[in-house]
Amino acid sequence: MPGFELFGADERKHVNDVMETGILMRFGFDGARKGIWKAKELEAAINKKFGCQYTHLVSSGTTALTTVMSALGIGYGDEVIMPTFTFVASFECIISVGAVPVLVDVDDTLTMNPDAVRKAITPKTKCVMPVHMCGAAADMDALRQICKEHNLLLLEDACQSFGATYKGKYLGTIGDAGTFSFDFVKTVTCGEGGAIVTNREDIYIGSDGFSDHGHDHKGVDRGADLHPFLGYNFRISELHAAVGLAQFNRLDEFVAKQRAGHAQLKAVLAQVPEISFRRLPDEAGDSCTFLSWFLPTTELTQAVVAEMKAQNIWGGNFYWFDHNWHYIRKWEHLKKGVTLNALHPEYKAAIMAQANKDFSASDAVMSRGITTQISLMPTEQQMKEKGEKIVSAVKKVLAAQKISA
Ligand SMILES: *Cc1c(COP(=O)(O)O)cnc(C)c1O
Repeated sequence: MPGFELFGADERKHVNDVMETGILMRFGFDGARKGIWKAKELEAAINKKFGCQYTHLVSSGTTALTTVMSALGIGYGDEVIMPTFTFVASFECIISVGAVPVLVDVDDTLTMNPDAVRKAITPKTKCVMPVHMCGAAADMDALRQICKEHNLLLLEDACQSFGATYKGKYLGTIGDAGTFSFDFVKTVTCGEGGAIVTNREDIYIGSDGFSDHGHDHKGVDRGADLHPFLGYNFRISELHAAVGLAQFNRLDEFVAKQRAGHAQLKAVLAQVPEISFRRLPDEAGDSCTFLSWFLPTTELTQAVVAEMKAQNIWGGNFYWFDHNWHYIRKWEHLKKGVTLNALHPEYKAAIMAQANKDFSASDAVMSRGITTQISLMPTEQQMKEKGEKIVSAVKKVLAAQKISA
């Protein structure tokens, strides 16, 4: 999964280019930087490869989401529909712009269920935000149709799916805008970083300014820039962009390695009739950072998790149902509306009402799923052995169940 497994000479070279000039900032210092613009270069490279008009780099996936929500005009009084299975950053950003996160169930795609989205639409709905979890796409045709019918913004949280596609289009480039994360455990990493992609000039200009104190970047120097609106400092540094550029140039190699490992592991697990796999709206576009698989019941799944832990083969596997950071069930802070800043009581109540809804349809899927991370390093033989160990644990649990039945 993570690009950090394959750091090398290229990353060092691009960082050294920046160190040679000493200009660590992505804006300004035109003369002193001697033509070295790593952030601009990476933005242009992403535009070219992903076929989109605009890319804007920022300091993280979280700040990318916050920035683009502001650029989309999302704020107080608005509702943003998002799935119950994601990383906490997805709702943090909605709350940071003053909007209400409206959580909806996921299905066996591990992404938002389009029927649940339809049911969640109210007059306050402004945006639908699918999260392309674990390297693969949500049902974008269905979601695009819903957004068109109801005149809603479509924002793709593609932070976990850099390089994955849906029907030939890169994730993030399909909706009004999309976001990526380059944090340390993502497919392409630069330590900390993120990006906004869009084909809309207004969203690009808004994002570019918002993430740099509102600078319009039109002055002869930074001091002469105007500030058409308020903003923050969510800038990426040239050092981070340099690492990102080196990693981005290897994206195809990373994805190819993941796809090979994924296929090897899946072939072994598929030998067990009780194991089923995540449903993929576009299987060919899966970046294969993970293999997600299901067992028929919650009980069996939890027994398999326990058995894998007992056999010391759990490393690199995830049972999201029990996970503190990725699934609604353990988001106590959101359910209680605990923040360090004072929220208006009505706003807090609206957030809490959303977080405490019935998510039994999500539970029914998430409680039966196990996700295995696909590393970039293993050989085919190692991947096969990994699969065989999992299969042996599953078979042991199934056999014990048959005896007790
Ligand atoms: C990682 C991630 C983010 C946030 O990215 P950071 O760069 O860590 O801030 C947002 N959404 C999802 C789905 C993520 O996985």
